[in-house]
Amino acid sequence: MSATIIDGTAVAATIRQQLTLEVGRLARKNVQPGLAAILVGDDPASVSYVTAKAKACAEVGIMSETFTLPSDCTEADLELLIKKLNSDERFHAILPQLPLPAHFDADKVIDSINPEKDADGLHPVNLGRLLRGEQNGPLPCTPHGVMQLLRYSNVDPSGKHVVIVGRSTLVGRPLSILLSNKTKGSNGTVTICHSATADLASFTKLADILVVAVGKPFAVTGEMIRPGAVVIDVGVNRIDDATRKRGWRLVGDVEFVSACEVASYITKVPGGVGPMTIAMLLANTVDAAARRAGLEPVSLG
Ligand code: NAP
Repeated sequence: MSATIIDGTAVAATIRQQLTLEVGRLARKNVQPGLAAILVGDDPASVSYVTAKAKACAEVGIMSETFTLPSDCTEADLELLIKKLNSDERFHAILPQLPLPAHFDADKVIDSINPEKDADGLHPVNLGRLLRGEQNGPLPCTPHGVMQLLRYSNVDPSGKHVVIVGRSTLVGRPLSILLSNKTKGSNGTVTICHSATADLASFTKLADILVVAVGKPFAVTGEMIRPGAVVIDVGVNRIDDATRKRGWRLVGDVEFVSACEVASYITKVPGGVGPMTIAMLLANTVDAAARRAGLEPVSLG
């Protein structure tokens, strides 16, 4: 079997077109969505993510500004900036680029963001709303992106066994809630695996839908996948590659070639979940602007 590729770049482009129309709707009410991105330090991967996000904002008509702080700034410096942005009416969403340098307590930083301006949907108020199945707050971008990829691929999790490898607050745990919600496009039976899971393959082989968010290249290989499963690879890892001019390339957590032979659908890295994460960030920003103005929220279906 050769799996059908779930093209995250194409799905994200479709969603961005939809968001461009939403931005137009808001413009007619004199509202322009604004995103404040915060970059602490000069980690090359973070710089490139923030640059990509700014470009994506410009393409759909979102005003964005990047605030850069030196890597040796204090938590108080960062919280002061967030306090200012919380009350700056130009910005409807605030995004501190993660990961922050090691001396920061990321949870504390996220806690200082006004929950209505929480671009990533990771503030405890918004995670609480997610847990209660409320529809009135931003959803975490990567898990929401995975849900949209499944929807656009006509993969209905209802009644399916979903196995998620990884239990981070950023990806695995919020995704487990979204996938097990008693709602249309969800309703799956979810198993979460992590580093203490004994015999990982015995779980992954049971998955109708397998989501891998581990951060280790090739943590899952084809022989760990049930024939016909849908495989979503969230991982983004740099590995050495002497054939590339820059000396490295990006790979996921799933060994793509062997997985393709058994899966029915599969995402690629890059070009799978990554573009969806950015699209969902844009959606959260436009939605926050609409709600702030008392207008109809954004609906991606
Ligand atoms: P994380 O916070 O490091 O969490 C990794 C999870 O994987 C943890 O729950 C860990 O278990 C589990 N794990 C580690 N080794 C394992 C193993 N051998 N077997 C089973 N589980 C194992 O990472 P994250 O933030 O969730 O990110 C995961 C990956 O997704 C990374 O590659 C990251 O770059 C990527 N990512 C991509 C996007 C995107 O837009 N494409 C967005 C976010 C993240 P413990 O809890 O026991 O430690």
